[in-house]
Amino acid sequence: MYPRLNIQKDSIAKNASYLASFCNKNGISIAGVTKVLCGSLELAEIFLKNGIKIIADSRVKNLDRIKSCFPQAYTMLIRIPMISELRQAVSVSDCILVSDIHTLTVISEVSREKGKIPDIFYMVDMGDLREGVWFEQAVQEIRTACSIGNVNLLGIGTNLGCFGGVLPTVENMRKLVEIKEKINVSTIRDISGGSTVTLKMLEDGVLPKEITNLRIGEAIVCGTDATGGRNVPNTLQDTVLLEAEIIEIKDKPSVPYGETGYDAFGRKHEFIDYGIRKKAILAIGEQDVSSSGMTPMDKNIKVLHSSSDHTIIDITDCEENYRVGDIIDFKLSYGALLRASTSPYVEKIFK
Ligand SMILES: *Cc1c(COP(=O)(O)O)cnc(C)c1O
Repeated sequence: MYPRLNIQKDSIAKNASYLASFCNKNGISIAGVTKVLCGSLELAEIFLKNGIKIIADSRVKNLDRIKSCFPQAYTMLIRIPMISELRQAVSVSDCILVSDIHTLTVISEVSREKGKIPDIFYMVDMGDLREGVWFEQAVQEIRTACSIGNVNLLGIGTNLGCFGGVLPTVENMRKLVEIKEKINVSTIRDISGGSTVTLKMLEDGVLPKEITNLRIGEAIVCGTDATGGRNVPNTLQDTVLLEAEIIEIKDKPSVPYGETGYDAFGRKHEFIDYGIRKKAILAIGEQDVSSSGMTPMDKNIKVLHSSSDHTIIDITDCEENYRVGDIIDFKLSYGALLRASTSPYVEKIFK
């Protein structure tokens, strides 16, 4: 059945094993993040078999499945939790990232009831403007957090590159280390220094040695670093292909005919007149993928546009004589893969 994601286990395994040993050699534990493949058990298994001991995901539902299947795995919940999901979060997570004192108090109550004490990383916002106590208030707030019982406040962490696109630098990483030193509480041992985007500093040998953990998804699953705009050295990028089927091929004008308003998503497109073009419709749409993140393997194909369930491509310049029923392969950006792996209409095939 199409559309489907054709996932190359061997390539992902190589990336996982390379990055795990690269990080471990530098005194850093790696949490393998499964969210880009929607918490897939197959991906968790690849991580566990290739030197990654911590399985991280942003959704409690995903960790629940992973924990049931791999009870021995150490699980990390990387989206700061909702209070309404804390009972389940404590059950399925060995470690939880938090950024709120009240939430931590409720975790403390839940863990006392359950007799299960989770490890906690308290998140610090170093400037990216997503989760975490703002760095200038971090020492005070995290000292308060240290007085809460029934949780094991193991470390502090930060996330960069996701909202503001702020890059990790020697300066902001040093500042994070200083925050840990100023808190000066012996149980706070670890610093989780970010995600794929932080690998660059490790490669350059400039990541402070006090950083003891990284949470890595994209570099393993895609071999890329979207925020850094690069491929990650020594990783493979031929990890996942999206396969979609052609349901119509017709010669049509390049500019719509008739008065135009907005499209189904309230967007207005600019059309340039290239005359009559040979166009194909694929049975995949915005519900399954974002067309801007699709790169055809056939370099002569142009992706034009997609609506909910249809993606239009221009195949005029192709050498291959495509027919209805043929399958077109695409590489995906991180964002497009995230969406495709979440769509129930897209099958995942691990090869
Ligand atoms: C998604 C996410 C990660 C993993 O990011 P990658 O860029 O895929 O390595 C790490 N930490 C948090 C908090 C995340 O939300």
